[in-house]
Amino acid sequence: MTENQNLYARFDQSFAKVPDTPALVDAGGSGPTFSELSRLSAGFARVLSDEGVAIDDRVVVQVEKSVGAVALYLACLRIGAIYVPLNTAYTAAEVDYFLGDADPSVFVCSAIEGDSPIKRLVLGNTPESPLWSAALKAEPLDIIVRRDSQDIAALLYTSGTTGRSKGAMLSHGNLFSNAQSLHKLWGFVPDDVLIHALPIFHVHGLFVALHTMFLNGSTTIFLPGFSAEVVIELMPRATMLMGVPTFYTRLLKESAFTFKVASNMRLFISGSAPLLAETHVEFESRTGHKILERYGMTEAGMITSNPLDGDRIAGTVGFPLPGVELRVCGDDDNVVAAGEPGVVQIRGPNVFEGYWRNPEKTAEEFRAGRWFVTGDIGISDVEGRLTIVGRAKDLIISGGFNIYPKEIEEVIDALPDVDESAVIGIPHPDLGEAVV
Ligand code: AMP
Repeated sequence: MTENQNLYARFDQSFAKVPDTPALVDAGGSGPTFSELSRLSAGFARVLSDEGVAIDDRVVVQVEKSVGAVALYLACLRIGAIYVPLNTAYTAAEVDYFLGDADPSVFVCSAIEGDSPIKRLVLGNTPESPLWSAALKAEPLDIIVRRDSQDIAALLYTSGTTGRSKGAMLSHGNLFSNAQSLHKLWGFVPDDVLIHALPIFHVHGLFVALHTMFLNGSTTIFLPGFSAEVVIELMPRATMLMGVPTFYTRLLKESAFTFKVASNMRLFISGSAPLLAETHVEFESRTGHKILERYGMTEAGMITSNPLDGDRIAGTVGFPLPGVELRVCGDDDNVVAAGEPGVVQIRGPNVFEGYWRNPEKTAEEFRAGRWFVTGDIGISDVEGRLTIVGRAKDLIISGGFNIYPKEIEEVIDALPDVDESAVIGIPHPDLGEAVV
């Protein structure tokens, strides 16, 4: 029989090697060990299963970042359910759309408001909250359901290149291949300590950061959000930071952020939005560290990365990850010459299985041979190093968050006396881009 391709089975192997190592700790250093996290996820698995959540059922989750939320995610993997995280900033009307589309068997939220035909479970950010305390009391369901690599582990909503939000279906194989590549590429060592200040409803905080650390089996300092002051205080205890460019510009604004503060660090990684070359240069002169910039997206996880050893060039996003093929094409889908701009197309084990219940959209964004059209405009040099120079899609990225101009235009257009509006992004020193 072939190996179980369930992503949790991979984590389970590394957790078993380091049962007593703290897995996720707060700024004060307390939090569960890997064996406690595993036990907690088995408790959540029991509760979900008692609620009738079965294999391939969707579990939609809109909760604050917490250890309980991570254990809930792991529980979904264990029982073969499909995890669907939602941005905590989504409004009730937006959430209704996602619930209608994902068609889940339960909705895990921070408070129950109004009536809904969908069963709701409440998870707050403390162990006293209802779902978390139920998981702590439950008889652990210590299972890892058999999954194939193409089976779906998560749906992440994205507007993709155009239109209404669609659920990108990410398989156990997509997520594992990407995590394994990054773990190797970024040279994780057994005692790496990561500062985690990202949200966990996105690829960056949920997959890139947690998956690599779970394969590594070392400690993550798990913070509720980003504060430059707190990160500076914790940095001497850490070796890695993963952030959006705004983390780096904000750190540089602090005079307390010095060469000495960063001297225990091994690696600073940036992504989700373009890092200004000047931030890269200023960061190096302040700390001696060259930020490692990588590029990725919801539909494909990480696509390219600057090298760990070798030149990390400011303003570029590096080379395709091992196993990922990348080509830069004109509008006719023919590959353009090195040095010429075009749309980035990719294929590989990281590329998603398609959009949830939307075969038309899926077909639109793939070309023959399963090449996925990213909607980003890039230039590849003769060595294959990529620079992102723009977007063919209507998207503004501000402080690492995606903003779709269309959504704002619709609100403005609905105002009395407005005939028409246009919303664009302009360069912003702190947020990368701002909305005008
Ligand atoms: P999301 O699907 O929300 O992760 O957004 C993905 C988009 O963010 C990509 O398609 C790019 O447009 C942008 N992006 C991510 N990383 C970078 C980067 N390092 N440089 C430039 N753009 C980036």
